[in-house]
Amino acid sequence: MIRVMVSGANGRMGREVLRALTQDPECEIVAAVDLKAAGEDIGEILGLGKAVGVRLEADLESAIREHKPQVMVDFTHPKAVVGNVMTALRNGVIPVVGTTGITEPDLAAIRSFCDEHRATCFICPNFSIGAVLMMRFAQEAARYLPHCEIIELHHDQKLDAPSGTALLTAKMVAAERNGQKQGHPDEEEKIPGARGAEYDGLRIHSVRLPGYVAHQEVIFGGVGQILTIRHDSLARESFMPGVVLACKKIIGRQGLVVGLDQLLGE
Ligand code: NAP
Repeated sequence: MIRVMVSGANGRMGREVLRALTQDPECEIVAAVDLKAAGEDIGEILGLGKAVGVRLEADLESAIREHKPQVMVDFTHPKAVVGNVMTALRNGVIPVVGTTGITEPDLAAIRSFCDEHRATCFICPNFSIGAVLMMRFAQEAARYLPHCEIIELHHDQKLDAPSGTALLTAKMVAAERNGQKQGHPDEEEKIPGARGAEYDGLRIHSVRLPGYVAHQEVIFGGVGQILTIRHDSLARESFMPGVVLACKKIIGRQGLVVGLDQLLGE
């Protein structure tokens, strides 16, 4: 059994993670941490109608020391995640991180901590298999159709923009484009931001509306043709097989591992 702690356990994603882990025969939830509702049994949170003996706690470090998890799944807040990751790493726990908004300097710091201390960390901007394939196909398409823009669409409670998935997609596409310039050189924005955010010459547009879960289109333009690669996460359950797989496959790895594709097919 893999001893798993969930950080952000009372959030939208955290509750799904609790539900998914309780159904997996190889994983055991040993602790659940969240800022709100400390003290409730996770059975109440999930509406199971019975207590399961794991109560929400507010302090990550003391929960780690008391319950000794092997893995910490984190779906919290862009401002909290790096602190949580470092607390887990310092205490010998492997973070499996879904929280987005981690900056490149923070990633570099996590990587060097892992290298220096022979520790392990998994960071995954998107746990759904369809989104991983979307990114892989987009990278392939960019070799032949380098003119590209990304539209990502999420629910209106999302805190970071652009999404971690859009950023990772942009990075993967940019790696194939060799600094491709696109659009008219004299283009003028009549309202600042009209052309979206820029990543290495590639535009990213972020839509935030109630009703969406997590969606992305990667649009490639060529002479007389358009290729659109689209992925839709219609429910948060779409991320759960990836989260559970990561809890299992990350054990035995070393260093910072980024992206679900790194764990697939092993
Ligand atoms: P959410 O509903 O706001 O849940 C976050 C939870 O974490 C809240 O209960 C929050 O408590 C709690 N929290 C905040 N800081 C904490 C800390 N320091 N320690 C412990 N708990 C803390 O957000 P969500 O929709 O679940 O999304 C969470 C993150 O996952 C976001 O960054 C989102 O972009 C990301 N996400 C990733 C994927 C993926 O596949 N990688 C998929 C979907 C979402 P309060 O409410 O009291 O602040």
